[in-house]
Amino acid sequence: MGLLEGKNALIFGLANERSIAWGITQAFKREGANLGISYAGEALERRVKPLAEQVECKWVEECDVSKDEYIAATVGKAAKHFGKIDILVHSIAFAGREELNKPYYQTTREGFKTAMDISVFSFVALVNAFLPILNPGASIMCLTYGSGAVKVAPHYNVMGVAKAALESSTRYLAYDLGPQKMRVNAISAGPIRTLAAAGVGGFRDMYKHFADMSPLRENVTIEDVGNLAVFLASDLSKRITGEVVYVDSGFNIMGVQMAGKEEGKE
Ligand code: NAP
Repeated sequence: MGLLEGKNALIFGLANERSIAWGITQAFKREGANLGISYAGEALERRVKPLAEQVECKWVEECDVSKDEYIAATVGKAAKHFGKIDILVHSIAFAGREELNKPYYQTTREGFKTAMDISVFSFVALVNAFLPILNPGASIMCLTYGSGAVKVAPHYNVMGVAKAALESSTRYLAYDLGPQKMRVNAISAGPIRTLAAAGVGGFRDMYKHFADMSPLRENVTIEDVGNLAVFLASDLSKRITGEVVYVDSGFNIMGVQMAGKEEGKE
């Protein structure tokens, strides 16, 4: 029997087969969850619908999380289809490409607001809107990049600041929802080649550097993230909340970064 058998799971942020949300969707399917998928806009429908079919997902809804009325409508549709929800995944971020290619101090007011609204506030708004239909024991999670939130990742700029706010929001939400036995955690993934990542200046170099510098000397895959999401969604983690859990081949533990030597070589 799968770890998520009988649980209703909603995943927000599927764009294509490279999306972290796709790794999570596939892992949830493997573990027996009933799936619901949400995507951002009409342009994605063509890519998302065939993916949903692959995992026999019947609930596929468009939701632009920058609009309260879209979120409210999505909650209504989820309530009608599933009744109650056990797992909510927020795998959404956005910042204007131009904000990620210049010094952080040149961030524009509009660019700052947009990044915060879509990458952080939408998490709070989703939790607030879905609360009435979340089951006790529900598990909620979001995706962060801790190496850009608590440290500096060149070019990550306003997105790093947004991720710091997202991680902090995770802790505040965990405090609020704890008495209802609902858990809120953040997954901090190492760099993965996705659509969102393509907008970050110098991503290619960062991706390569990461594999050279991490203790496990390997990049992270969407399957790795999916497996961590299963753990956080399942009752195996039922006393874990408010945490930022890293799946990054150990990269974040490094204080000084030097290209690793092969075993037995000087
Ligand atoms: P992705 O496939 O591009 O997913 C990002 C998703 O956010 C897309 O589906 C995107 O839709 C959606 N989105 C943007 N604006 C939205 C809006 N207004 N309403 C609803 N959805 C919206 O990239 P990803 O890398 O898997 O990103 C998923 C999450 O993982 C993000 O939070 C990201 O910061 C995080 N993360 C990524 C990495 C990495 O290296 N890739 C590492 C750590 C954490 P559109 O395509 O239509 O904009």
